[in-house]
Amino acid sequence: MFDVDKIRDDFPILKRKVHGKPLVYLDNAATSQTPQIVIDTIVDYYSNYNANIHRGVHTLSQEATDKYEQARIKIQHHFNAKEAFEIIFTSGTTHSINMIASGFASLLKEGDEIIVSALEHHSNIVPWQMLCEKTGAVLRVIPMNLEGALEMDFYHNMLNKNTKLVFCNHVSNALGTVNPIKEIIDAAHKVGAAVLVDGAQATPHIKPDVQELDVDFYVASAHKLCGPTGMGMLYGKQEWLEKLPPYQGGGEMIATVSFEKTTYAGLPHKFEAGTPNICGGIAFGAAIDYMNTIGFNEIASYENELLTYATNQLLEIEGVKIYGTSTEKTAVISFNIEGIHPYDIGAILDKLGVAVRTGHHCAQPIMDYYKIPGTVRASFSFYNTKTEVDLLIEAVKKAKLMLS
Ligand code: PMP
Repeated sequence: MFDVDKIRDDFPILKRKVHGKPLVYLDNAATSQTPQIVIDTIVDYYSNYNANIHRGVHTLSQEATDKYEQARIKIQHHFNAKEAFEIIFTSGTTHSINMIASGFASLLKEGDEIIVSALEHHSNIVPWQMLCEKTGAVLRVIPMNLEGALEMDFYHNMLNKNTKLVFCNHVSNALGTVNPIKEIIDAAHKVGAAVLVDGAQATPHIKPDVQELDVDFYVASAHKLCGPTGMGMLYGKQEWLEKLPPYQGGGEMIATVSFEKTTYAGLPHKFEAGTPNICGGIAFGAAIDYMNTIGFNEIASYENELLTYATNQLLEIEGVKIYGTSTEKTAVISFNIEGIHPYDIGAILDKLGVAVRTGHHCAQPIMDYYKIPGTVRASFSFYNTKTEVDLLIEAVKKAKLMLS
């Protein structure tokens, strides 16, 4: 039995009020809230064993190193990576993607092709455009359709012997569409291309198995799954991580340094130059543990119930249009009300205690496709309730009345 009231007790922030109204937090796709156990982990780190890691002989440093490396193993197990050293700690999805884009600069040549999907976040578009400028490679785009799903026939036809890399998000942040990544990966591998999957929006709802997917790179941010900001991960297959050059030079990532020649450390340290976000890594591990205690199957089926409940009620409001109607979607509703700017709706919702996101959601090409300036996006988490959905609906009706 999914006990949402008990779960809500784990999140102190859910008790606060905004403009005198109980907070209804529906901006989970932007960042998730933090359970007490993760907050306690952060406090415990700074209160009891704050120290630099990996090179200290003293007790605090060893304790911090152990906890940091244990977190890496937790993340390895969560994503079912073969080796712990295939998990690189980063500052988030954006950092992870830039790391791979920068690494491929030395492997690509003019005429090579890179494929991205039409459903990408800007952080999975701009680094590849920069990579194309540097290398002369060509960027090609898998088109989307009105439902907000990818046109897979186009994708299969685009693949050829020049295709070197394919990038796709697992779940679209703007629409919630779950993309057929297994099909994307298998087809790319047939022409010898590597695949990076952006899991920023999938990981709060789905537990990915990187070995079963046979994906080359999988990236995610801790703050979307109950962890801290400024923390994330990159999974890379060992063979790829060994082939790619380091991203940054500095301490921690070397084996030996002299003015004549420097040799690099092995994985994962080769990609982790400088003092990392130690506390963030440990708290990321605690967040993964927390989510697993709730269970990803339970999370998915509960959120799906919320999604159906909210979608049905929203569609009863005249003038509401939902963008992203694929049957394969997570609990995200992107919508507009005819004749009203999304920002105005968001501002009124905030006054009523309801936190949603408005705008292009860092996915301008999707907005251009629909010829709209943006949407109102309500994104649900396992700690949201049907009562909160009712409050959202009531607030949308009020906003419509005030703005019509
Ligand atoms: N990709 C997707 C699909 C996202 O939703 C986000 C965050 N909105 C990012 C990438 C970037 O993540 P971060 O800002 O944590 O680096």
